[in-house]
Amino acid sequence: MHELGLSESIVDAALRRAAGRRVTGLRVRIGGHVVAPEVVTQGIRLAAAGTVLEDATVDLVLEPMMVSCRECGGSEAVSDHLALVACPRCGGVDIEITGDEHVVLESITVAQPD
Ligand SMILES: [Zn+2]
Repeated sequence: MHELGLSESIVDAALRRAAGRRVTGLRVRIGGHVVAPEVVTQGIRLAAAGTVLEDATVDLVLEPMMVSCRECGGSEAVSDHLALVACPRCGGVDIEITGDEHVVLESITVAQPD
């Protein structure tokens, strides 16, 4: 699955950044029309098991998608593409979802040494 590949990439990036230190939190930014967030979180948990990331909390930052409408020329941010069958402004159905699909490890929180 696409989502599991994303999760593994995030974990790989976080492990490189952590450089062996224990990590208490991850912040991951997801943009575009990617996926179910809970699947990403679960994938990260699975990929992180047995690593310095295993106790980290996963904080997902979801960026809204943009929808542009060819009927009224409007452009709106939307957060739920499943609900999106028509333009939120004019009700037109000639719409296009835009925005780059990306998943970025934004930051990690490293545990302070004792
Ligand atoms: Zn419209």
